[in-house]
Amino acid sequence: MTKSNQKLSAATRIAQALRYLDPETGAIVPPIQSTATYARDENYDPLKPYWYRRDGNETTTHAERMIADLEEAKDTLLFSSGMSAATAIIDHLDAGAHVVVPRAMYHGVLHQFQTYAAKGRLRVSYYEAGDLTELATAMRDDTALVWAETPNNPDWAVTDIRAAAEIAHKHGAKLVTDCTGTPPIATKALNFGADISMHSATKYLNGHSDVTAGSLSTNDTGAYWDEIALTRKLQGTVLQSFDAFLLIRGMRTLLLRVERATQNANRIAYHFDDHPLVERVLYPGLPNHPGHAIQAAQTGRLFGGMMSIIVKGSEKTAIDVARFCNVFYPATSLGGVESLIEHRATVSGDGFPVDPCLLRLSIGIEDAGDLIDDLEQALERANT
Ligand SMILES: *Cc1c(COP(=O)(O)O)cnc(C)c1O
Repeated sequence: MTKSNQKLSAATRIAQALRYLDPETGAIVPPIQSTATYARDENYDPLKPYWYRRDGNETTTHAERMIADLEEAKDTLLFSSGMSAATAIIDHLDAGAHVVVPRAMYHGVLHQFQTYAAKGRLRVSYYEAGDLTELATAMRDDTALVWAETPNNPDWAVTDIRAAAEIAHKHGAKLVTDCTGTPPIATKALNFGADISMHSATKYLNGHSDVTAGSLSTNDTGAYWDEIALTRKLQGTVLQSFDAFLLIRGMRTLLLRVERATQNANRIAYHFDDHPLVERVLYPGLPNHPGHAIQAAQTGRLFGGMMSIIVKGSEKTAIDVARFCNVFYPATSLGGVESLIEHRATVSGDGFPVDPCLLRLSIGIEDAGDLIDDLEQALERANT
C-alpha cells in the first residue's frame, strides 16, 4: 500500500487505477460487475449504493472515480456516449430556457440544441467559438446556460474558460465546457471555473476506439446534479460495465498517449505549416494559432493531437488527400492510438460552416515520420 505521508501525482494514481486492490483475492485489476440487479438484505432493504444496473454498478463507479480524480471534481457521472451526457444537460433545461452556444462546434451537440429550439423547447443564441466579446453580447438576464467547446471543432479555436465562466456567472448562467480535444490530464476545466465539465470519453480518455462513453463532472453537487443523475437513470443511459472496464484499462495509459500524440502533432504541424500544397495548419500548439497562449496555460502545453489542415486547391483535392492516405484511416472520431483523417464538410453535412478544403486530423501514437510521409504522398498524388 502507499505510504500515508506520500502525496502521489495523478500520473501514478491513474496508472494504478487508483491503487485498486481486492482485499479478498489480491487482484489489482477492477472486475467487470455483470449483474443487472442486486438482492435486498434480510429486512428487504436495498443494499446500498446499488439496486439495479440502470442506476450504476461497481465497475462504472470505479471509472467515474478515476475521471473525478483527473478532473479534480467532487463527482463524475458516466454515460453511454458523449452525446447522451450532453443531452442529459440539454434535456434537463426548463422549457423555453435561453442558452448561448458556439455557431460551429461538434455537430451532434449543435444539432441537439437546434432540434430543441426548432420544437420551441429552448431559445438559442450563438457566438463565434473563442470570441468572448460576442459571447458577452449574446447573454441575456435570463440566460440559463453557456456551452463552450474548447478547443472547438473543427478549427480548434480556444476559449478562455476563466473569462467565459465570469461572463456566464455574471448573468446567473452555468458554464458547461466540452474539452474532449484536451482530456483532463491536460485541461481541468472545473479549476478554471466551469460548472460542469463534459467529455466524450470515447476519445482520449478511452483512447482505443473500442468504447463509446461520455462523462459529466462537477464540484456543484446540489439538486441540479441529482436531477441530471436521475435523467441518466430514467433514460437508461448509464455506461455499461464492460465498457467501463475497457475505459478503466484505457485511462491507465492516458498520460503516455496524450504526451506522444502531442509530440507527434507538433512535428506534423511544424512540417506542414509552411508547405507548398497546404494553405494553413490549424493547431493550438503552433505559436501562430490565435489561441496558442491561452491553450498553453489551459493545457500545461499538452496540446494533444487534434489539428486541421486546409489544403490548397479545390474541395476535390481535399477529399482526394483523405482518400489517398494509407496510414491515416479515413474515419470519424478522434483521440485514439491510431491516426484518422476526415473531410469535415462531407461529414458535417449541408449548412454547417466549414471550409470545403479542411481536413481534420486526429494524430495518434504511431511513428511521426510514417504519418508525415503518408500525408506527403497523398498531397502529391492529389495534386497530379
Ligand atoms: C465525439 C464528440 C462528442 C460526442 O461524443 P460521442 O461519445 O461520440 O457521443 C461531443 N463533443 C466532442 C467535442 C466530440 O469530439
